[in-house]
Amino acid sequence: NKQIVFKDYVSGFPKESDMVLKTGTTGLKVPQGVKGVVVKNLYLSCDPYMRSRMRDLRGSYVEPFTPGSPVVGYGVAKVLDSGDPNFKEGDLVWGMTGWEEYSLITATETLFKIQHTDVPLSYYTGLLGMPGMTAYAGFYEICSPKKGESVFVSAASGAVGQLVGQFAKLLGCYVVGSAGTKEKVDLLKNKFGFDEAFNYKEEKDLDAALKRYFPNGIDIYFENVGGEMLDAVLVNMRLRGRIAVCGLISQYNLEKPEGVHNLFCLITKRVRMEGFLVFDYYHLYPKFLETVLPYIKEGKISYVEDIAEGLESAPAALVGLFSGRNVGKQVVVVTKE
Ligand code: NDP
Repeated sequence: NKQIVFKDYVSGFPKESDMVLKTGTTGLKVPQGVKGVVVKNLYLSCDPYMRSRMRDLRGSYVEPFTPGSPVVGYGVAKVLDSGDPNFKEGDLVWGMTGWEEYSLITATETLFKIQHTDVPLSYYTGLLGMPGMTAYAGFYEICSPKKGESVFVSAASGAVGQLVGQFAKLLGCYVVGSAGTKEKVDLLKNKFGFDEAFNYKEEKDLDAALKRYFPNGIDIYFENVGGEMLDAVLVNMRLRGRIAVCGLISQYNLEKPEGVHNLFCLITKRVRMEGFLVFDYYHLYPKFLETVLPYIKEGKISYVEDIAEGLESAPAALVGLFSGRNVGKQVVVVTKE
């Protein structure tokens, strides 16, 4: 059983060498008396929150990885053997699994059974998995969006951002996204239908950039990055605007997070800024599928994935999220069947 093992806790930017390829032993049968499933992992998801699990921070919203054990993350897998009456051999599932070829999963209550297989299975790491639910819950439940409002999304071409922008367009909003390369900016405008997009790395003055695209201000900011971008957005918010704080990726590798300077704007503009965690919204998953599957089939939503081939490519793929190497949702294919 090939595995990607987490070496030890990390400070600063994570490196490929913080993880190592090893060969372990995992039986292909569920041990007698264990309520669990043995799965073959097909697709693994690289997600920014995994950086928090590389810190020795117990009691946080996710537990740290265990040094010397395989990395743990979302994935799509096929059940090979089951000691749980809710699952049978051949079932396809998505949920928490290991970065390895085969895993024994005992927390089966956290697995979702995949019922719709007429879409790419890898979508269950992104569009139809945790990031998709994040975009859905964050936009519809936290942003209180209304038709015609002005929406800004940062890290807009990523797993979550590309969907937030498309949901906002489907509702009839004016949508602008920021991303870190020309290729991503082109995708935002030409593939995902954003009204405007800009490369934040090429803007000397983010405040001026936002004023260019939002002369009347921003009603909704879907926050994925934090730092300077958040400060520039705060001064450009409209009266009674909403900020959904989904992520702050620019801060994840800093030992001391940067300060935010313009919080007073929340008061003067009566802005509601609210953080959220997708884990609190999984009860909406059936409703989410009912909404999103037809959008996919009718071609109303597109989704771009960045697919890395082979388990051994997983460490570089994960680390690449923090330099913006991924174009779209970062997936790792272990095997296609
Ligand atoms: P992405 O697919 O967007 O990948 C990360 C992207 O972030 C990179 O491609 C890069 O794009 C951008 N980025 C990296 N470093 C920086 C930086 N210093 N400043 C600005 N942008 C940067 O990731 P996801 O869509 O999966 O996640 C987006 C955000 O949502 C993250 O902050 C994540 O933690 C959060 N999240 C929160 C959840 C919740 O429950 N609250 C659940 C899931 C995700 P670029 O080239 O544009 O810089």
